Amino acid sequence: MARTDGKLAGKVVLVTGAASGIGHATALAIEQQGGIAIGADMAAGGGASLDVRDDAAVSALVDRIADEHGRIDGVVTAAGVAGGGPVHLIDGTEWERVIGVNLTGTFLVCKHAIEHMLQQDPIDGQRGSIVTIASIEGIEGTAGGSSYNASKGGVVLLTKNLAIDYGPVGIRANAICPGFIDTPMTEGIFEAEEMQAPRRGIIEEHALRRFGRPEEIASVAAFLLSSEASFVSGVALPVDGGYTAGRDHGVTKLLGLS
Ligand code: NAD
Repeated sequence: MARTDGKLAGKVVLVTGAASGIGHATALAIEQQGGIAIGADMAAGGGASLDVRDDAAVSALVDRIADEHGRIDGVVTAAGVAGGGPVHLIDGTEWERVIGVNLTGTFLVCKHAIEHMLQQDPIDGQRGSIVTIASIEGIEGTAGGSSYNASKGGVVLLTKNLAIDYGPVGIRANAICPGFIDTPMTEGIFEAEEMQAPRRGIIEEHALRRFGRPEEIASVAAFLLSSEASFVSGVALPVDGGYTAGRDHGVTKLLGLS
């Protein structure tokens, strides 16, 4: 029985990458707000088994959701992989792996969801809401970022183009650009001893002087899915504790701000 309370009451939302980290927290946040979250992941424990690179499988899952629930109101594309390296040190297979999951996977999920959204009647003028999970590394470069940054930059502009193409028929599209968030992905990146110094440097670069929590991305995804964000579309929204606000060269410390 669909819930009638909460800002996502009764809304049917596909969340990829739901086994872990940001996707998992987002699926929980959607349910807490009265929505129906259908998780999907390549790993166990995230709902439906899905490789977002598999065109036919993505299409079949979206068809099944629309059959079972009558409509699909939103997607959150949180499936993703870390990767990169200076370009002369990475080969084509590694490049394709990162672009394949992060960018092509996002394209496929959006494409098949939008096919259904176009068929359904608008509710309060809205046919659907697409929320992609890009990154601050999709709006700024990072040393060694290469394939990862290219994939996330692609997600940002893909999302803006979705907003332009489908806004006229009532579909909104927005990208969230998280700063560094404590998840299994970042645990994997920073577990090595030699990564502790870069980790401390990264913390310093967030104005709030910490990594974020998955719930802090999930709550913004829930907002963007909801009618509270009914006039928000085409945005690449940093949720990054001030990481992209600018540089801190220590001047205010000299002026007495400790
Ligand atoms: P995570 O590793 O905890 O979760 C990612 C999930 O995606 C995993 O459950 C994994 O199994 C799934 N996945 C990977 N490849 C898949 C595929 N081909 N098909 C289906 N599922 C697949 O990572 P996270 O930190 O929660 O990241 C979620 C998203 O947020 C990613 O797109 C990531 O790039 C992005 N992001 C993360 C951070 C961060 O600091 N953690 C920052 C910015 C952006």
